[in-house]
Amino acid sequence: MTSTTDEPREAQQGRQARLALARAAYRDIPVYSPHGPGENPPPVRIDASDNTNLWGPPPAAARALREAPGDLVSRYPALYAHELKRLLAGHAGVREAELVTGCGSDDVLDSAMRALAEPGDAVAFPVPSFSMIPTFARMNVLRPVGVPLTGDWDADADGLLATGARIIYLCSPNNPTGTLTSEAAIRRVIEEAPGLVILDEAYAEFAGRSHAAESPAWERVLVTRTLSKAWGLAGLRVGYGTGSAWLVREVEKARGPYMVNAMAQRAVEVAMTEDRAWVEARVQEAVANRERLAAALARLGLRVLPSAANFVLAGSGRAREIAATLQGEGILVRLFAGLPLVGDALRIGVGPWEQMQQVIDAIGRVVTTGNGTGEEAAT
Ligand SMILES: *Cc1c(COP(=O)(O)O)cnc(C)c1O
Repeated sequence: MTSTTDEPREAQQGRQARLALARAAYRDIPVYSPHGPGENPPPVRIDASDNTNLWGPPPAAARALREAPGDLVSRYPALYAHELKRLLAGHAGVREAELVTGCGSDDVLDSAMRALAEPGDAVAFPVPSFSMIPTFARMNVLRPVGVPLTGDWDADADGLLATGARIIYLCSPNNPTGTLTSEAAIRRVIEEAPGLVILDEAYAEFAGRSHAAESPAWERVLVTRTLSKAWGLAGLRVGYGTGSAWLVREVEKARGPYMVNAMAQRAVEVAMTEDRAWVEARVQEAVANRERLAAALARLGLRVLPSAANFVLAGSGRAREIAATLQGEGILVRLFAGLPLVGDALRIGVGPWEQMQQVIDAIGRVVTTGNGTGEEAAT
């Protein structure tokens, strides 16, 4: 039975060999898996877990995808997505040379860190905020430094500046809190930061404000936006950044050519010209439903943060129980366990009211019955 006693040693040697091959900075980086081990969320009726557009894709873009000619996929796409950039730049209020596209805004964020910091430099960001930021920092051999939000959910401008970080990341509206970052904090960080400031505006449409148009004048500010949330095109993976022409060029170098595929370029070009009114109407509906959802959750005793995005974060001592029960009923929300400053909480994406009513009813059944502490008794 030598094989059974040898096996652990072989396994150990194999592990050591792999560790020697792996880049040191990568050994402790986890694979992103928001739904736990396993790649995909379980199949559900209502997926309110990722803040995508629950009304579906914009109609003209969806039609363009169905009717796309064959050579769109047999040929390489435009090298740096010239036509797409021209249209996005018009939309964002900048010149084409002041805009960089990417495979999702994730790609733009990652490339910006690669382009504008040296290995070992710090990236400072608010906590809690977008969970990918510390991961992108590590992937680029940078040092993630979290700085807690202030008591009223604002970015701590002084705390972020005190880190002396080469890159400071801000997010407004902030994910996962949904709260706006104050104009005062944004401007103070931009005026005093020693290096790059990234302002992530993935949810700007729902807040009705964006800094994209002013970003080129600030020289060292990159504003990132996405087609994945309000625009309903998350599956195509298109995002962009705006800033001064030299800054955008550095990011584009680090990102490389051909990163936006041809189908995505075509569909977003069509969306930019034909789907604006549809998107605007869905945004207004989302904002109205967000307020109704927040009020209903508050009535059920959850601690709802003031949201300017298309989701709400609701703190609850029974968040785990609620998430599990909802999942059993085919409704997926995002559970945050032990979130700094918030505790256990649920992030719920806003969609058509009929779906929101089902979410509210399901949560209501948990909090008004069961074995809770009474903390969340209906008031
Ligand atoms: C969803 C999200 C993104 C990434 O979106 P992409 O699909 O990669 O464009 C970036 N930042 C925040 C805060 C997000 O919530």
